[in-house]
Order: sequence, then C-alpha cells, then structure tokens
Amino acid sequence: MSNDTGHRPRRRFGQNFLHDKQVIDQIIDAFAPEPNLAIVEIGPGKGALTLPLLQKTGRVNVIEIDSDLAQILIDKSRGIGDLQLFINDALKFDFSQIKPAPLQIIGNLPYNISTPLMFHLLKNISIIKSMVLMLQKEVADRICARHNEADYGRLSVMIQSQCQAEKLFTVPASAFTPSPKVTSAVLKLLPLTTPAPSIDDPLLFERIVRQAFSQRRKTIRNAWKGIVDPGCLEALSIAPSFRAGNLSVDDYINVANSLYHQQNQGITTVDNNGDC
Ligand code: SAM
Repeated sequence: MSNDTGHRPRRRFGQNFLHDKQVIDQIIDAFAPEPNLAIVEIGPGKGALTLPLLQKTGRVNVIEIDSDLAQILIDKSRGIGDLQLFINDALKFDFSQIKPAPLQIIGNLPYNISTPLMFHLLKNISIIKSMVLMLQKEVADRICARHNEADYGRLSVMIQSQCQAEKLFTVPASAFTPSPKVTSAVLKLLPLTTPAPSIDDPLLFERIVRQAFSQRRKTIRNAWKGIVDPGCLEALSIAPSFRAGNLSVDDYINVANSLYHQQNQGITTVDNNGDC
C-alpha cells in the first residue's frame, strides 16, 4: 500500500506511521522540548513528529535508516525549520556527534529493534537529558516492572539502574498506518543524575544480571553458582532461595559492587563470618 508520498511502508523497518493528530500532540507535550537542548528523533519516517517539533523548536536532528524517506522529509520540512538529517542505522549511530550535549531524544521506535536500541541508548546515557519513546506496550511494561512483578526481567534491571522509567499512556493500533498487530505505549525515561547506589563496574553488573535472568527459574544461589558466593548473598541480606525476579535493582547493583571489590582485593572465598 503506497500513499500520498508514493512511499510504500516497509515492514522490515517497522514502518507504522502515526496519523492521529491527538496522539501526536500528546507525545510532543510529554516530550516538552527545552530551548537550547539538542533534539534528536530516531526514525522520523514521514515527519509525523518531526514537523510539529520543527515548528516548536526550529531545529531537529533526525536519524533515519530508509534513504527513500530522505527527500520526503526534506521537502516537508522546507520553510519550517532546520532539519539535520542523518541517513543511518540508529543501532550503530554515534550520538556524541550531535552537539551540544545533553540530548533530548524522541522516537516512535521500530518494534523489531526496540530492545537492542534501548541498550545502545543506555551506552550513551551520559549525554542524554531525557527520552520519550513509543514502544510496543509489552516492552514498555517490561521496562517499568518492579521486582516481584511478572514482567520484571533483565531489561527492567538494566534500564532502571540508569533511568527513572514511567509509562505515560497507551496508543491503540488505529493511530498508525498501516496499523500494527500490537498496542503501543509511550514511555518517559529520565537518566538518574545520582544513581544510588552507583555501579562500580558496568560490565560486571551486566554479566551478573544476564546470568541471573538466563536461569530465572533457578534459585539465585544456583543461577550464580561459581560466580557469586552464597556468603555474599547473606551479607547483603539476599535470601539464597530467591529467584532472579525477587531481587531489586539495588540488590543487583550491591552484588555486582561486592563482587567487584572482592576481585580487586584478590578475595575469592568467603571469610569466617560469611561476609564478602
Ligand atoms: N516517526 C514516524 C511516525 O511516528 O510516523 C515513523 C515511525 S516508524 C514506527 C519507525 C521509523 O524508524 C521508520 O521511519 C523506519 O524507517 C525507521 N527505522 C527503522 N529501523 C531503523 C534504524 N535501525 N535506524 C534508524 N531508523 C530506523
């Protein structure tokens, strides 16, 4: 199905274009672009969010993978504002090339890459001020879930260790052309300015979170066998019988930090008190 612009939506790029003006206004209001901050839109498509943003702010940076959309975007934005167009894969994009930092990021994200994109954005978190992202509702629920909730998992821990995450509202499939098979949700992510507790070794943290959730039905003691000593769990008041989904984000950070300090002190075993 092509349309007014002659562009045929491509499923492989997750092209479900927003047409509902009320939803577009709601997203832009939630985004609340700040003067003097660099605005970055991931996946502008045919400009549903880009054009109102340009009208509001005068300048928007956009990253779009589909080069066939470039001319449409350039034509539509002419006379409205300054469009900085990067024809690029957002998953490989170097966000530090956009100046000045910090960045305000917005996007109606292609569903097929939303999780890897979230991880790529996390790597750039130090230069991000805020993000308003539309995702599949199910993914938004996973991101915002708290420990002991069914949707809580690796994505929840990794994102909440860096950001305050809030699901703002859901968006029905009828707001898009073509309509997707799923409901969407708009999420606001605010990077924590003072992560509490802070993470001493991000790679180690990532590794232990991955290990815990890769065997989420096992007790945490067994899931971390050979990596985290049971004495360490006790010292942190974490029951060894817990499953991955019972540990809070802070618990994960505390375990990773303890492990980091043990390794740096050359301690590989538990002391007589069972402390780590
Ligand atoms: N923002 C537009 C809207 O709301 O109507 C389009 C949203 S559509 C769901 C996703 C957009 O992301 C499409 O324009 C698609 O071409 C683009 N896209 C898909 N994969 C991408 C990638 N890896 N990097 C950058 N853009 C991508």
